[in-house]
Amino acid sequence: MEHNTRYDVQALRGDYPILSREIYGKPLIYLDNTATTQTPLQVVDTIRDMYTGHKANVHRGVHTLSQEATAMQEDTRRLVASFIGAESSDEIIFTRGTTESINLVAASYGMLLEPGDEIILSVMEHHSNIVPWQLMAERRGLVIKVIPMSDAGVLDMDAYRSLLTRRTKIVAVAHVSNVLGTVNPVKEIITEAHKAGAVALIDGAQAIAHLEVDVRALDADFYVFSSHKMYGPCGVGVLYGKRSLLEKMPPYQGGGEMIKSVSFEHTEFAELPFKFEAGTPDFVDIAALHTAIDYMTGIGLANIAAHEEELLTYTTPRLLEVPGLRIYGTAPHKSAIISFLIGDAHHYDTGMLLDKLGIAVRTGHHCAQPLMHRLGITGTVRASFALYNTLEECDSFVAAVKRVAAMLG
Ligand code: PLP
Repeated sequence: MEHNTRYDVQALRGDYPILSREIYGKPLIYLDNTATTQTPLQVVDTIRDMYTGHKANVHRGVHTLSQEATAMQEDTRRLVASFIGAESSDEIIFTRGTTESINLVAASYGMLLEPGDEIILSVMEHHSNIVPWQLMAERRGLVIKVIPMSDAGVLDMDAYRSLLTRRTKIVAVAHVSNVLGTVNPVKEIITEAHKAGAVALIDGAQAIAHLEVDVRALDADFYVFSSHKMYGPCGVGVLYGKRSLLEKMPPYQGGGEMIKSVSFEHTEFAELPFKFEAGTPDFVDIAALHTAIDYMTGIGLANIAAHEEELLTYTTPRLLEVPGLRIYGTAPHKSAIISFLIGDAHHYDTGMLLDKLGIAVRTGHHCAQPLMHRLGITGTVRASFALYNTLEECDSFVAAVKRVAAMLG
């Protein structure tokens, strides 16, 4: 039986009916948490409550239901602000997800840049933290530079420092790599960016549910993440931005709710945060994000991190006993994500066979093709852990990988 003095994993698993499913007659072992985490009943209940008791469009009504829905949305905004240590809830913009948050900053902050200005990314970025910058770079004549990494998956900080120039305007880096699990030294990255007069955006998609995040302690200028990767509903994301920056940025999209007044001659935009929230927001799921944050803080981020660390340190050496198995991403400071390949076996075949044994892992390039290129591979098999995974599941996973390795020769 699971030994975890921090919280009762077995009891918590009851919050996730999906974890009781069987796949091909085997108990589901869900290790695709990097792609999306499962959703506890508490969050699902909030969605149901919203639809059955509170649904009304926010900000536009004097009637009670509208006021209730508005209060719930704005409560979540305040909770998100305190969850990540923001100074004010005005600095919390609701988006559709990490991808939209980065697109917003690239498209809007990018308009403040001049041809020849430079953006620094890292070689391990998700496509969501590459392509929006490329689109803006093409439109504005900007230059993109890339921080290299070691074979272990550690960013080369000397190389980073040498890339910074007076033309560097933005540094955009993942807090945690979705492939390698590397926890990047984002505080140092931000400090160096500031010394060069640049601002820093941190892609927190893989950090927010696994580490304690404090945007003010980091001094991050922008910090972005998705609700569906933190036990919350799909369709909601967050952009944190420092007020001084958000205030000088032009709107990203036009429409309802982001205006103060409109005439055909001139439109005046609303104050923060509404300036960046055109159209009806996903207020149902925003309310449910509140429940997801309460759920995580109820367990404690430090407890979740310690549990996942235990799963990682338990599984890694056992997996390495599998003949021919190689792990990609061996940084000393890494999150509970294990990317691997077995001999010459194709990642797709390994993933498919694991699925037949009830194990959900992800295969492919994980939306990080430049990183695959750096590693000289086309993809990996990736197992990623969350607060509800158990040591027993880790044992079953390792046993299944051993079986698959034997089958694939
Ligand atoms: N950035 C990282 C590091 C990710 O892992 C992901 C998703 O896997 C994203 C960005 C994109 O997140 P979303 O699809 O929720 O916008």
